[in-house]
Amino acid sequence: MSAVTANTSTADPAVTQFKVRVLLVDDQPIIVEAVRRMLGEQTDIEFHYVTDATTALAMARQLQPTVILQDLVMPEVDGFTLIRDYREDEALKHVPVIVLSAKEDPKLKAHSFAVGANDYVVKLPDRLELLARIRYHSSGYISRLQRDEAFAFLRASQRNLADANIELQKLAALDSLTGIANRRRFDEVMRAEWQRGQREKKPLSLIMCDLDCFKVYNDSFGHLAGDLCLKKAAAVLTEHLKRPADVVARFGGEEFAIVLPATGPEGALLIANACRDHLERLSIDNPQAPGGLVTMSLGVATIVPSKASSPEALIEKADKALYAAKNDGRNRVVVAPD
Ligand code: GH3
Ligand code: MG
Ligand code: MG
Repeated sequence: MSAVTANTSTADPAVTQFKVRVLLVDDQPIIVEAVRRMLGEQTDIEFHYVTDATTALAMARQLQPTVILQDLVMPEVDGFTLIRDYREDEALKHVPVIVLSAKEDPKLKAHSFAVGANDYVVKLPDRLELLARIRYHSSGYISRLQRDEAFAFLRASQRNLADANIELQKLAALDSLTGIANRRRFDEVMRAEWQRGQREKKPLSLIMCDLDCFKVYNDSFGHLAGDLCLKKAAAVLTEHLKRPADVVARFGGEEFAIVLPATGPEGALLIANACRDHLERLSIDNPQAPGGLVTMSLGVATIVPSKASSPEALIEKADKALYAAKNDGRNRVVVAPD
């Protein structure tokens, strides 16, 4: 939409103000001169012309007029062909065309309208009549441009809003420090997986993980170093999840939870051991801890979801196993008894 001009201060800034832009296509300089004089003092009308019909289409494409005044009889290309060309051109197909004909002939008129003209006047018309027709056709076309622009703007806004909503939903489900699922997401996943497990009668396993002696790590190295360590622990846990439905979440503080749908205690124990071993092998110093390194304790629990139990019961079971791992000396995995 290149027919953009002055935005007046009273106009809605969101709507582009289009100026009336006339393109006259006529091979006779005398007609060009006459039309130029007629439009000369109209400050709201921009006048352009082309006398070589072979360049008319390219000129129209470049100018994007709001109305075309089209001669019919020209050497090389006739007016009807040009009107057809405008109608087939994506950027010009709706631009109003006023035929400026030398003859008042019903057949020419009928043919002009048949190929896509919007109006027909015999040259040279009265000045006021020509101005009125130019303004009438241009304003209809300008309204169309503004409507298209408003629709495009609306569509873009809707797309942006939808993208922003998706982004917001993602953010609302993530822990801002570690980037893994947050407690809220964990609760949702547990509820959904509990129902799925109940329908499919498949075991649901939960691993609760807690960093060992993490308070003294913070005391030794400060809270920022502690945060970095939590990120590393989250990355370790994430790395050992293989199935799309597996989810690791920050349960709170330095505690993490891993939800493993359709997984029995043996599978869950393998993953828990792999995570524990991996973190230990990172050899992050924790000099005040008994083992001298950052490690974690894990409690594993499994339940085949049913009405007789609940997600809370599974969490409590895994928590008890974690407690046992702490009591047994930390840096270990305990599987909850059936
Ligand atoms: P235990 O082996 O029994 O789990 O001992 P612990 O020191 O890890 O347990 P405790 O519950 O006494 O302390 C947990 C510590 O975790 C306290 C707090 O400083 C730290 N912590 C919790 N959340 C964050 C966090 O977001 N960032 C940092 N840097 N530290 C945290
Ligand atoms: Mg701890
Ligand atoms: Mg804790």
